[in-house]
Amino acid sequence: MDTKVVRIDESNKSEAPIREAGEIIRAGGLVAFPTETVYGLGGDALNPISSGKIYEAKGRPSDNPLIVHIADLEALEAIVKCVPETAKKLAAAFWPGPLTMILEKSDLVPKETTGGLDTVAVRMPSDAVALSFIRAAGGYVAAPSANRSGRPSPTRASYVAQDLDGRIEMILDGGDATLGLESTIVDLTVEPPAILRPGFITGEMLRQKLGRVDEDETLFSADSGQAPKAPGMKYRHYAPKGELTIVRGPAEEVTDFIGKELAEGRRNGKKTGVIATDETIDKYEADVPRSVGKRTDAAAAAKGLYRVLREFDDEGVELIYSESFDGEGISQAVMNRLLKAAGHRVINV
Ligand code: AMP
Ligand code: MG
Repeated sequence: MDTKVVRIDESNKSEAPIREAGEIIRAGGLVAFPTETVYGLGGDALNPISSGKIYEAKGRPSDNPLIVHIADLEALEAIVKCVPETAKKLAAAFWPGPLTMILEKSDLVPKETTGGLDTVAVRMPSDAVALSFIRAAGGYVAAPSANRSGRPSPTRASYVAQDLDGRIEMILDGGDATLGLESTIVDLTVEPPAILRPGFITGEMLRQKLGRVDEDETLFSADSGQAPKAPGMKYRHYAPKGELTIVRGPAEEVTDFIGKELAEGRRNGKKTGVIATDETIDKYEADVPRSVGKRTDAAAAAKGLYRVLREFDDEGVELIYSESFDGEGISQAVMNRLLKAAGHRVINV
């Protein structure tokens, strides 16, 4: 099939493309759309056939559940058994925004959408195009990230096209995603609530609203011996084609170590890449050097990480070293994705 790409911006305020996208969803088709986190691959969340098509287009295992995107709180009431106080508090504080809540699902939601589970993941994104599109589509859009399984989540429309051109009806191009990492996922069906995926809404922010909130040990460690709590967590995450290693330690020792490893890699004829910061990038001699912004700016690192990982693949980089981004808050979300991309290969210097 031909994939139609439509740019939506200030100069093109026409609602026609969004209406058209909504009609595609209502008719059981698929549309990729911008959100503030990453681009989503949308289908009608209440139509089991649409969910099936999403799994097929992504090449995603069908027991890895989808997030249902909504545009208002009435939609939440329709798709969950009941809205607990905890969900009301979090919705009031963080919706629309980059937070996904796991709740008991109502009969309206087919199990094809939830990977066979009795729970459903729900998010109300803040991106204006996303909200209009969800409304035009009937109010319930199931959407995982709009990448092929095994690729980094797409932060711009051209990355969606790289992965899904010819597999979906339409791509709404809303420019670069403002945040660049997937939503925080919090499970409200357990007591205390548990973070299943770290993101911009941090553990600290959730605790301020709910009191105790647990963080799954498997978020930051290679193998804690625990069974993963979220079904998607058992699947290998995106790993770049090149071998990625994170180097942790005092700043100068990290740059020294990475510098030597890059030189050694180049001597051996390897194409090299480095993920660094504005402060250090000039110290490295790599074939593909990439800064993700100022060291203190975790939001910039979050925004740039997936783009940089895609660039390494596009350039055929074989050996990649990354500085580490340990810290509180958003840094934890960055490290969680970076550790997964590196297959938890970390060197402490
Ligand atoms: P993605 O849409 O690619 O960001 O992935 C969605 C992720 O949300 C899945 O991989 C799961 O880890 C998580 N998820 C979705 N629905 C549920 C659910 N009902 N219970 C637990 N985790 C879920
Ligand atoms: Mg994904």
